[in-house]
Amino acid sequence: MSYMRSVPRVWRERIIKYRLIGGACKDCGKTFYPYRKACPVCGSENVEQKKLPETGVIETFSVVRSPPTEFVSQAPYIVAIVRLDDGTLVPAQITDVEPDEVREGMRVEAVFRKYREQGEKGIIEYGIKFRPVVSNE
Ligand SMILES: [Zn+2]
Repeated sequence: MSYMRSVPRVWRERIIKYRLIGGACKDCGKTFYPYRKACPVCGSENVEQKKLPETGVIETFSVVRSPPTEFVSQAPYIVAIVRLDDGTLVPAQITDVEPDEVREGMRVEAVFRKYREQGEKGIIEYGIKFRPVVSNE
């Protein structure tokens, strides 16, 4: 049973996701999310963790109406590439907005939301999503 083994992994990932920690490559200068040990652009392992800004704009998006089984209760939902204010591209779900109201270039901010429950004990994993920034503030 893999249940016990999976717990530490969930907690470790949750800490990283909650703080929106990405990676910064010291060789090519690119930043990326989520953090990984090797730069996805140049392959360098000269990478350090970096706190990323939590606001940006929607670069591109699409509406998913026929998702994998485990996400079917959330359909339709919106997946996007968000360009953070420092230029980092982040693949993420867009939340708190109807699919036909989403626009490229829309200002969004990071929120941390439950995205999956697993097992009868209901281990809950949290992940980052983005929602539109209210424009009248
Ligand atoms: Zn690099």
